[in-house]
Formats: sequence, C-alpha cells, structure tokens
Amino acid sequence: MPSKRQINVGGVLIGGGAPVAVQSMTKTETADLQATMNQIRRIADAGADVVRVAVPRDKDIDALKQIVVDSPIPVIADIHFNHTLALKAIDAGAHCIRLNPGNIGGPEKVKEVADRAKAAGVPMRIGVNSGSLPKHLHELEREDSVEALVRAAVEFVELMESLDFEDFKVSIKSTSVPNTIASNRRLSQRIDYPLHLGITEAGTRWTGSLKSAVGLGTLLADGIGDTIRISLSTFHAEEEVKVAWEILKALKLRQKGPELIACPTCGRLQFDMDTVVADIERRLERYEDPVEVAVLGCAVNGIGEASHADFGITGAKDEGLIFAHGKPLRKVPTDRLVDELFVEIDKTLEAGRTLVDERKAAEGADWLQRIEDENAGELTPERLAAMEKAQARAEAEAAGAPEWDGGEGNGAGGGQVLELPVAAPAERTRLNEDASPTVGRRFKRG
Ligand code: SF4
Repeated sequence: MPSKRQINVGGVLIGGGAPVAVQSMTKTETADLQATMNQIRRIADAGADVVRVAVPRDKDIDALKQIVVDSPIPVIADIHFNHTLALKAIDAGAHCIRLNPGNIGGPEKVKEVADRAKAAGVPMRIGVNSGSLPKHLHELEREDSVEALVRAAVEFVELMESLDFEDFKVSIKSTSVPNTIASNRRLSQRIDYPLHLGITEAGTRWTGSLKSAVGLGTLLADGIGDTIRISLSTFHAEEEVKVAWEILKALKLRQKGPELIACPTCGRLQFDMDTVVADIERRLERYEDPVEVAVLGCAVNGIGEASHADFGITGAKDEGLIFAHGKPLRKVPTDRLVDELFVEIDKTLEAGRTLVDERKAAEGADWLQRIEDENAGELTPERLAAMEKAQARAEAEAAGAPEWDGGEGNGAGGGQVLELPVAAPAERTRLNEDASPTVGRRFKRG
C-alpha cells in the first residue's frame, strides 16, 4: 500500500504521492569539510534529491554546521548510539535525522530527540536493521525473520506516536533481498508513513546494482517506497545515484535525461555497433532532455520494436538509417551515423519538433524496404515478437476487448524541408578487443 503521510526534508517532499526521492550517503570523513562538500556536489550533480552524512563525533557536528549551509541539496545526519549528537545535529541545522530508536539509550533519550526535532520542525528517519533487532524479538527472529523486522519497525512507530512525534519515515534494512521485499510489503500494510528503501551492504557496483534493482524495483513496481538509496561498495557515491535513477527510469516512475536502448546484437550485425553505442551513451550524458534513442544492429526487421523511440539508428555494412518515431529521416554512411544522429537530435530539440526532409526521408524508406525485402524470409527475434504481438492482438479482439494499439508510438510529426548541416566528426570512443571482441563477427574495427 503506498504511503499516505508525507514529510518535508529541507524542501524535498517524501511520501504521500510525491515522486520517489533519490538519496545517497557521503563516504568521506564528515569533519573533512572540503572532501565532504566535493562529494556532496558530485552526488547532487548526478541527480540526488537529498544526501546523508555520518555524524559519529563532535567534530563532525562542527563540519555539519557549514555543510547544511553550503550543500545544494538537503542534508540528513546519520546518528548511532549517541542521542546527544542527534540533539546537536538538529541544532546544527540538519534537515533530517536518521536514527535507530533501539540503540540510543532508551525511550527517555528518544523522547528528548523527538521533542527537539519537533520544536525545530526537523523530520526523522527511524529504522530497524536485520543485524540489530531488539533482544525481545530474537526468538521471533529465529522463527520468522520477516515478522521480527516488521514487528520491530511497528514498535518504533508506536513509540514515536506515544511521544507525540509523527514527522518521520521508516526503513527496514536487510542484506537479504527476499526479506527486504517481504518485510516492506508487510510493513506497508500496517503503517501509512513514508518508507525508505535500501538493501544493506548490497555489494559491488555490479552485484549491488542488480540486487538493488531486483529488491527495490519489485517494491517500487508495487507502489511501495518513497525514497531510495542504493548501497554500493565504491567510494564514488554518485554511482549509487546513477543506479537509483536507472531503476526509477526503467519503471517510468521518474524521468531524467535521455534513455538509450540498444539491441543485444547477433550474427546479423555488420558494423561496429559496440563502439557506436558507447559513443552515443557518452555523448548523451551532455543532454538533460528525456529523449529516447534506439540503436538497432540491423534493418532486417525494419524499425519494428524501436518505433516508439524519439530517435534511432540502424545500420548495415556501409550505410545506415536515422529514424524518428518509427519514420525514416535519412540514410547516411555507417561511419557517420553517430555524428549525423546528433545533428538530428540537436535540430529537433532546438525546433521543438521533428523536422523532415521529405526527399531524404523517402530515400531512407526505400533503403529500409530494400533491406527488409532482401531478408524477408528470416525469422529474427524481433519478427517472432511481432508475430506474438499480432497473435495477442487477435486474441484480445476475439475476446471483445476494446481496440488495442499494442503500445505503438504516434509517428513523426513535422514535414518541413530543411538543409541539413554536416556534422563535424566528434572524438570516437576507443574500444579494444578485450572490451568488445571483433573476432568471429561480421565487422572489423579500424
Ligand atoms: S536481428 Fe535484432 S538483435 Fe540481431 S542485429 Fe538485428 S536488430 Fe540486433
């Protein structure tokens, strides 16, 4: 069940239907003001909405006073075991306090922090961790570890409510993906406070990203979770933010910047698509518009599955095609595909609509038709998918379902004829044989 309540962390709304907030945590010594601020700026530049800093000592409080002033995004102070530091962090101007009510010395001390936070209008994140459940839940933990986590979280919620403090979000953290999913599902049925999602000690960039995508993605797809932090074993916290955004973008929960989709390639590929994809990905990093760009390794299937993309390219040995919203724009030599694609993207973004040179579009359509005709008999993965889609449509229509559009795009607009600028060749990404082997494939790399 999605949360009903909402908190305000330094101007960022969390819960109650607000967009899922992205957060990360600095990995520097907080007292090292310069190093911490450098990392916070990188985290903010990557798109984080809020940032958390560890506050284990008094000298971190001293730095926190300046960090909350200098940070471009709200700052959460992460406190463990020491309620005095929580009080000082509130006084220092932290926008939110994270603490575990079970480890700061008893309800009296929790009350002291809650009273101070309430007076200052500072929300809290209260949380339980699978590694530090209260003693009285240890037996339950052995029988039902998910229920033990949920029970601990609900007990903390009841404690805060008994202290007349309701300005908080809740987190249940576990290293187990299934337990994270099950416990947050169960908790969301029992409380209506915003939920912070994360997988504890998820691992390296590769395994941690996958675990997080599976665990958090499953919950978010169910509408559970109001803010996410991806925990990766890397100093570069901005990587956590990038992964968080990819999860949110994949679920269409938030949009940020371009999206690149690319076919996996197969034995039909006749050009160096690995380099092309790497080039496009690198060049798209400079764009903030949410354009979707598709790269197809061959035109054997037509534009097919990529017809919804704002832009796309598909190539053959010597020539390729640039298309937009499923309609050809023009064919270009394969070695100029990337540069000319970006000419089209820039032109469209500047004009606010797709501009089509009808003569060149017709040449592109002829080229595409020729490739499709030459390969008409091939049963490619995309053609199989198209056949399955057609069958599903027929079945839906036979069952009396309303007319189904199959999720297709709307087609390119425009129609204005225009002289195309010739793109200056940009610097190429260099992929070596280790990163992208050409041996056994149908192209060579120069
Ligand atoms: S058949 Fe599909 S997977 Fe293979 S190169 Fe063409 S578009 Fe890519």
